[in-house]
Amino acid sequence: MTNRAYNFNAGPAALPLEVLQQAQEQFVNYEGSGMSLMEMSHRGAIYEGVHQQAEALLRELFGIPEGYKVLFVQGGASTQFAMVPMNLLQPGKAASFVATGSWATKAIQEAKLFGETVVAASSEADKYNRIPSLAEIAIPDNAAYLHVTSNETIEGTQWAEYPDTGSVPLVADMSSDILCRPLDISKFGLIYAGAQKNLGPSGVTIVIVREDLIGTPSLTVPTMLRYSTHAKNDSLYNTPPTFAIYMTNLVLQWVKAQGGAAAIEQANREKAELLYRTIDESGDFYRGFAQKDSRSLMNVTFRLGSEELEKKFAKESEAEGFVGLKGHRSVGGLRASIYNAVPLSSVRALVDFMAEFQRRNG
Ligand code: PMP
Repeated sequence: MTNRAYNFNAGPAALPLEVLQQAQEQFVNYEGSGMSLMEMSHRGAIYEGVHQQAEALLRELFGIPEGYKVLFVQGGASTQFAMVPMNLLQPGKAASFVATGSWATKAIQEAKLFGETVVAASSEADKYNRIPSLAEIAIPDNAAYLHVTSNETIEGTQWAEYPDTGSVPLVADMSSDILCRPLDISKFGLIYAGAQKNLGPSGVTIVIVREDLIGTPSLTVPTMLRYSTHAKNDSLYNTPPTFAIYMTNLVLQWVKAQGGAAAIEQANREKAELLYRTIDESGDFYRGFAQKDSRSLMNVTFRLGSEELEKKFAKESEAEGFVGLKGHRSVGGLRASIYNAVPLSSVRALVDFMAEFQRRNG
């Protein structure tokens, strides 16, 4: 198939072509059942098999140890901004955060609705162009947890190494970098991620939570917003987003076929290095936004000499079949999102375009 765009969308984002084709083959008549998976009961054996396989693959690919629950919930990562404090923030305690950018800020704002929040470190003074160093983080004594945003999708920064929080649970929003590299889950109390960047389509949010943190939240927390509800019912308390979970399962199979998280990381590094090298060797024609040691493997953010030139780049790249390169409206500039499913060939095409654009405009 040759009519696929060079898709650098920030999310929803590119999915592996093989996965889309497999879904297409299975779409109308799922494995001879006479119906689409979308038309089936979530209580039936066929769907339940898919549901269980998706969980088992997540456990396998992440090496999730005993004592953790894997949940499929709805409402996006934005709902997790509320669910985390609703379930984990006890009275008298503070929700602490590392303020790294736009998404961390949203998580902090939401947590304020539920109790005390403390910013344990911030890079706001640097316009969020870096991840604070581990030494800068001051976790308050009354911290219920420390929340980090693993990858800031808009600014293009990513934690290279996570803080050791001792007995304070570490909570991470991994919406834009989940499964981009191997991960030691045992360092975390809770991880959440919307699926629509690295794992599948929008509509399902993954939560991986240590069982002792699930607890019993206050009586006013609605049933659907309690982790315990979903944990007790294997994420089948109510109707789950069956099709999104099915697609996620296919993507996880694809990740496994690529060689798992370590092989995916290697491919991601190759793609990111190609782009960052092009930026760094452009003699300041392209200027990376993130400081080098905070650069994201997933979202490569850069600027040109003027907004006019940036607009020209966006327009001309679009005409050449590149999609999604305009930076987020809140920060401007340009951004190439190179999630797991973006092929190296798309990145090669982009760096060729960048070189050519520089020749014409440099
Ligand atoms: N956190 C991060 C890091 C994100 O990138 C996004 C979505 N772009 C969100 C949270 C919000 O996710 P959702 O749209 O699924 O609520």
